Amino acid sequence: MRTMRAAVCTGRERIGIEEVPRPVPQAGQVLVEVKACGLCGSDVDGYLGHHPMIEWPIILGHECSGVVAELGSGVDDWRVGEDVVVEPFFTCGTCPACRRGRYNLCRDLKLIGHQVAGSLADYVIADARFLHHKPCNLSFEEAALAEPVSCSLHAIERCHLKSGDLVVILGCGTVGSLAVQFASIKGAEVMVVDVEDFKLDLAAQLGADHVVNPTRDDVRKRVMELTDGIGADCVLEAVGRPDTLASTVDLVKRGGTIMLMGWSGSETDSFGLTKVTLNELTVLGTLCYCWDFPVALKLMSRGKIKVAPIISHRLPLARVEEGVNMLRQGGAGVWKIIIAEEASTDRA
Ligand SMILES: [Zn+2]
Ligand SMILES: [Zn+2]
Repeated sequence: MRTMRAAVCTGRERIGIEEVPRPVPQAGQVLVEVKACGLCGSDVDGYLGHHPMIEWPIILGHECSGVVAELGSGVDDWRVGEDVVVEPFFTCGTCPACRRGRYNLCRDLKLIGHQVAGSLADYVIADARFLHHKPCNLSFEEAALAEPVSCSLHAIERCHLKSGDLVVILGCGTVGSLAVQFASIKGAEVMVVDVEDFKLDLAAQLGADHVVNPTRDDVRKRVMELTDGIGADCVLEAVGRPDTLASTVDLVKRGGTIMLMGWSGSETDSFGLTKVTLNELTVLGTLCYCWDFPVALKLMSRGKIKVAPIISHRLPLARVEEGVNMLRQGGAGVWKIIIAEEASTDRA
């Protein structure tokens, strides 16, 4: 039996590199040799046992690019050796959401690295329908980030921004830093709020018009100064802490839109529902992506969306647990960590 290395999370704060059977692609599936895999907050949540969709034991990882290694039966639109990006979904294809084309809401949605084996491994199984060609001017490491880029694109599109809107982005992690770029492309005026100055500096380079560090500045006061006391057109929450979630209703204008990309995992967070009703707010959720990968890859390939500046570290698979802990602790220049075998240096 052929085997491969995989980072298997077997319980709370336990990841081991194990030699496991190399999976065999079934009908409609493709075996992808993983070249790069981004680490994500949901990998940390899975590692800590906080993620509602992740159960142990599981091979984590879902932001990946690689090379087609083997085809399952019936797959005739891919060739072994092609460079690909994996949209990490398996869907049923027949439920009402799938039939309406909103496949991210499939009632049997399965995500790589969540309910099925992930891409923190030498190989991963993907659904042939959810593979995309890697643009040749993107590295495997950059292309792996089409996943968070697509998440951010999906959320921004749901906000229906207009040129000139003031958009406040709370949190400049991976998804926040990408939302800055998408909102700028839309012609919005963008304010980014984060406690890390190095992230704010780069956010400004990526197109943010205003950067605010809430440890020094009053965010609400800045928003009201910019809008003659009216409030932001749209507030995008990309932190997932109770206090930032609660702050959204005080930053947005009457009739404005709140996009909740982050979530705290707690069912009892206070959120100003009275303000939601009386200010006629639109509060939106977002789940992954739906038809967003091709657009994300096109914009990345054309240089409109930049991911290289947010890649802060590169580590080989053997050091994945160290990477997950770096991401968990944050701070000190940690932004996006990429797991790639060719990784020679820690610092990107
Ligand atoms: Zn992710
Ligand atoms: Zn379905």
